[in-house]
Amino acid sequence: MTKLSILDIVHDTTVDGSGFRTSIYAAGCIHECPGCHNPHSWNIAHGTSHSVDELLMIIKEDEFSNVTFTGGDPFMQVDGFTKLARKIKEETSKSIWCYTGFSFEQILGSSKLSQILPFIDVLVDGKYIDSLRNTDLQFRGSSNQRIVDVQKSLSGNKVVLWGEDISFIQQSQFSNQQLQVSIC
Ligand code: SF4
Repeated sequence: MTKLSILDIVHDTTVDGSGFRTSIYAAGCIHECPGCHNPHSWNIAHGTSHSVDELLMIIKEDEFSNVTFTGGDPFMQVDGFTKLARKIKEETSKSIWCYTGFSFEQILGSSKLSQILPFIDVLVDGKYIDSLRNTDLQFRGSSNQRIVDVQKSLSGNKVVLWGEDISFIQQSQFSNQQLQVSIC
């Protein structure tokens, strides 16, 4: 049975994405961003073990909240979070936001990391950079981090930012090869 190491579960938060969300805080992070809000989260052993089904039950208990994966970095446990995300999409109509220190392009370039993308609605990507900290930004800490509409980006072969007008779409293009997503 797949187990996930989880630091915390926060209900009805409004700071980890749009609307009310159940936030799942993953233990484990390799990015070591200077100024990180929670260095305690870097060690995967600091979390407690939960099965995918336990987490799914907790998420489904809240009828109205959507879901956010954060941490730490959920991509440290991408196999387990992919199973959880797949079940959320199969059994609920909830949206999923996911925070990560990896860039969207780094994730696309890895068949292991990109397995989760078909189930993620919005990805807040990139390391936290203290010199780019901006407290006016919504849902992110530094201005290098992007709020990526994952499904529009995958279907359009370019990074599409969440909630922005089409005229603000970033023009970075991906090769078709980069957009191959393999699912275990
Ligand atoms: S990615 Fe997030 S949790 Fe990881 S070191 Fe950077 S700020 Fe901290």
